[in-house]
This record gives sequence, C-alpha cells and structure tokens, in this order.
Amino acid sequence: MAITVSLRDVRGADAAQREFIERGIARLGEALADPGFLAAVRSADYVETRWTPLHGQWRALTGEEIAARIAAGTERGREPDGVLEFAFELVDLPSPESGKQVLGSTALGCLPIHPARWFVDRCREAGDAVNLASHFMHEWMHLSGFYHWPDNKARGDAAYVVGRLVRETLEPKYGAEIDPAITELMHDRETDCGCRGNPEGGVQVGGAWSRSPSTPSG
Ligand SMILES: [Zn+2]
Repeated sequence: MAITVSLRDVRGADAAQREFIERGIARLGEALADPGFLAAVRSADYVETRWTPLHGQWRALTGEEIAARIAAGTERGREPDGVLEFAFELVDLPSPESGKQVLGSTALGCLPIHPARWFVDRCREAGDAVNLASHFMHEWMHLSGFYHWPDNKARGDAAYVVGRLVRETLEPKYGAEIDPAITELMHDRETDCGCRGNPEGGVQVGGAWSRSPSTPSG
C-alpha cells in the first residue's frame, strides 16, 4: 500500500513560506514512496527508540516496528490509515544568532507542528526542500509517539535517524539542492529541537515552546 502524506493546514505563514512548506511535503512524499526508504528504516542502527502509547508505559521499538508505524501512517492514539498527517503553525523561536537555536516543536502526538519561522525561511532562501522534508519527518515521529531521551541532545534516536534517512533517500535525485550548512545545523550541532520529553504512563507532553494546550490523558 502506498503511503500518503496529507497537508491539512498551514497557519502563520506568508504565501512564499506556505509554498515552500508544500514543496517540503512533496519531497517527503517522494522519499516515503521510495522502496528503499522503509528498508533503510528497518535496518538502521538506532541508539535509542523510546516510544510511548497514549495510555500505558513506554517501550523501545525495533526497526521493524518503527517501519510498520510509518508504513501504516499511525499517529499516536490513532488507527492506522496509511496517511501521515501534517498541519503547521509557524512560530518565532530562537535562531542560531541568539546562541540557542530551536528548529521547531511538537507536542507528542499533537497537531499542529510548530516549525520555527527562521528555519523555514533559511531552507526557502537556500532552496533546500530536502532538509525541510527531513525536519518534517523528524516532527512526524513525535506525532507517532517517539520522544527524545534523556533529552534531545541524544542523537541517534528514532526521530533523528529516520529524519536523516529521508534526506539520504532524496539525495541521489535532489543532492544539488541540499545546503550542507543546514544539514550541519540540523544534525551535527547541539540543537534544541524543542520536543524533548520523558513522559510517564503515556501522558501527553507539551514542549516548553509549544502553544498547544496540554491535554491530560488520564
Ligand atoms: Zn525532536
């Protein structure tokens, strides 16, 4: 079954930002349609794969289980429908010039995703929709229930690895548009993605930067 990507809503963006977000979503759709992508997800080396259901205790998922959630488009607490859902609201978050950059934030399992406006602009100015697609995949992993532990400086976890695999899948076709400075900024430097969380018992966590109301989940 083909995996579909659905962009439901974009808020807080001007026409140029919206158009570039749509391009990033299209790139992500291409990566997901690549037969090599899920195979790479299954066989990747993960340092950490903590995932938490809406109710119940966290556990570490296998590469096979991670690929299955992506293939089925399963957001946390939702039924598999083969569709990766996206909605965005751009927000103003600290840029690299502030010394503490934040790329975006996602409350675990909750739309909308809040990408940093400076990050969308930087990708747009560089013409780099591949790294934007990579970032969207990272954020979708939080929608699906994967979280950073003990904090989001932990590279090699499911969100970072699968995000990187999106970039690597697109690289043969779109390598020329990838801006190495943005790649470095996303993966190699100490970057606060704003979506850390070590929830107990499947409690929904709102990121410190999130505007989403935190929803008690009993
Ligand atoms: Zn993250």
